[in-house]
Amino acid sequence: MNPKKLNYFKGILLEKISLLLDTAGKTVSELSQEEDSFADPVDRAMSESNISIELRKRDRERKLLQKIQKAIQKVEDGTYGICEECGDEISEERLKVRPEATLCIKCKEEQEKIEKQHGL
Ligand SMILES: [Zn+2]
Repeated sequence: MNPKKLNYFKGILLEKISLLLDTAGKTVSELSQEEDSFADPVDRAMSESNISIELRKRDRERKLLQKIQKAIQKVEDGTYGICEECGDEISEERLKVRPEATLCIKCKEEQEKIEKQHGL
């Protein structure tokens, strides 16, 4: 991939990170607000299930964040846009939709098939 394109994708990745960090920050303050306002046990239970939903969401966000950081690292060392599995180039169309992708669409589909077979 030429440096201009690499820079372009790096820009997208950095923007995605700042967006994610922004939402993560908001979620934390919303959570702590909720905790103070529920004294009733029923509300309390509901609030706790909301919190577990939020925590799951944050877990996903954290994983995405790690993927994006890894992708930026790849931009730095010049391996960005190359499939980790087969070494082919990942199509730019795919990277525009999923700039953090580390697998080409072929290998990704293969991986999803295996995950499904194993019930993951
Ligand atoms: Zn591949």
